[in-house]
Amino acid sequence: MPEIKVTPLGAGQDVGRSCILVSIGGKNIMLDCGMHMGYNDDRRFPDFSYITQNGRLTDFLDCVIISHFHLDHCGALPYMSEMVGYDGPIYMTHPTKAICPILLEDFRKITVDKKGETNFFTSQMIKDCMKKVIPLNLHQTVQVDDELEIKAYYAGHVLGAAMVHIKVGSESVVYTGDYNMTPDRHLGAAWIDKCRPDILISESTYATTIRDSKRCRERDFLKKVHETIERGGKVLIPVFALGRAQELCILLETFWERMNLKAPIYFSTGLTEKANHYYKLFITWTNQKIRKTFVQRNMFEFKHIKAFDRSYADNPGPMVVFATPGMLHAGQSLQIFKKWAGNDKNMVIMPGYCVQGTIGHKILNGQRKLEMEGRSTLDVKLQVEYMSFSAHADAKGIMQLIRMAEPRNMLLVHGEAAKMEFLKGKIEQEFSIDCYMPANGETVAVTTNPSVPVDISLNLLKREMALGGGPLPDPKKPRTMHGTLIMKENSLKLVSSEQALKELGLNEHQLRFTCRVQLQDPHSDSDTLHRIYTHLKSVLKDYTIQHLPDGTVMVESIVIKVSSSAEDANAKVLLLSWSYQDEDLGSYLSSLLKKGLPT
Ligand SMILES: [Zn+2]
Repeated sequence: MPEIKVTPLGAGQDVGRSCILVSIGGKNIMLDCGMHMGYNDDRRFPDFSYITQNGRLTDFLDCVIISHFHLDHCGALPYMSEMVGYDGPIYMTHPTKAICPILLEDFRKITVDKKGETNFFTSQMIKDCMKKVIPLNLHQTVQVDDELEIKAYYAGHVLGAAMVHIKVGSESVVYTGDYNMTPDRHLGAAWIDKCRPDILISESTYATTIRDSKRCRERDFLKKVHETIERGGKVLIPVFALGRAQELCILLETFWERMNLKAPIYFSTGLTEKANHYYKLFITWTNQKIRKTFVQRNMFEFKHIKAFDRSYADNPGPMVVFATPGMLHAGQSLQIFKKWAGNDKNMVIMPGYCVQGTIGHKILNGQRKLEMEGRSTLDVKLQVEYMSFSAHADAKGIMQLIRMAEPRNMLLVHGEAAKMEFLKGKIEQEFSIDCYMPANGETVAVTTNPSVPVDISLNLLKREMALGGGPLPDPKKPRTMHGTLIMKENSLKLVSSEQALKELGLNEHQLRFTCRVQLQDPHSDSDTLHRIYTHLKSVLKDYTIQHLPDGTVMVESIVIKVSSSAEDANAKVLLLSWSYQDEDLGSYLSSLLKKGLPT
């Protein structure tokens, strides 16, 4: 039986370093190529030696597909293509292709220029890598080669995020990347066709969460920010440059306007301008409200939110600062955090998920003494708040997507093992399908039933139509069609047996089944035969029954002969013989005649 195999090299029972290998119909596809933000060593990137020890990856992979620009989904791409070596096609949407290299360059700067790491990809490598990228449009089927096709669907989450449907023949897999089933202030909700894939590979970041209404969360967020600045404190909101940042800026801007607040709001990164540029450029990827508003003014040019300069962090008085990156693992958000952490009037609001190993993850788990570089410890006195604004599907959303796509099997990645276990139980119970959650390096194999196309000869169809009593097939009454399956020039054809003989240049051999039936019947042979004839005539109304002059009765292809028994003068021996086509009728007749003839 053919199989589809799925092996996560990253994001197996974990969040971070998403990289999933899929083997389908003889094709090998890599889904995402991310880095892990919780590690600074080898574990940062997927272990590509799993694919090949010394050969080039190009020989083993048919294509790479990147779901969106977050670094845990694309951060290892230049390393894989330029340092390990891959020259095949890389697919991603237009916005991802535009934004991905900016974030990769930013990541490289922090790692190489600030932390001084060597053996890392260079700016030139990022450029060379991006040259291998083929952009995808939504809902457009792209033929990777003669057999492998892919199609992208809107995933919400961040600008340009896509789910992808991968198809070889009748076998298919859907990979969600990160997605959001509810629209937010700047993006729409994820959507997919009822494509019934063999496997749906879904993220499960919030597998056990059913989030309260968005309005409640927003009100809560504004209240906390407001209270902090009222008492003269500073609010730090670590964000990623694109995505939640724009979402929360829109929220604060509106609130400041309505409440007539004066405390300054800053956005820390030079990426903002670029970000706004890309939102404008890819406006069709945002939601309808933003699209309409953009006609009047740029939604992302704010009245109350100004560019941040690092010297502002020491200014007295209240302020709100958005700073990157979102998990407090490096860069400006971490620098500001260190400055403000000692004051209990201040607050840090974590608006998204933080992977294990990051400062964000530590403080969210209640750690208040942090080991910093150079053996110093940092006392965390400021208030730590977590508000889930990250645009991932929650448990309800994941179930909703399953209902939408109707997969035959489910496979969870990008989540924590314990939470996956819970969701797996729920999915198996509600949908009666198998749900897998492989760890990194573990392979799941799912057997498939691919359909095989067969040509049917016109003659055979005409004959079948004549038998069926009408030209139109009735979908409610499936029928078995008899014919000979021949394979010629790599294609399959169903033809009549006569045509098969002709095409293959073979002689016909007839195979007949025979059977003897003993009958107590003290009459002459011809009399017995005649009574068999009348008996069958009355029982089998729709069949052709003939009494032939050579002393036989024929029902379709079945021949019945009568002879006297050698041992018993009152007994008769009936000889039945039939061809393969009348197998059912033949065995029916033999059991009917065994019961005897009516007197
Ligand atoms: Zn993401």
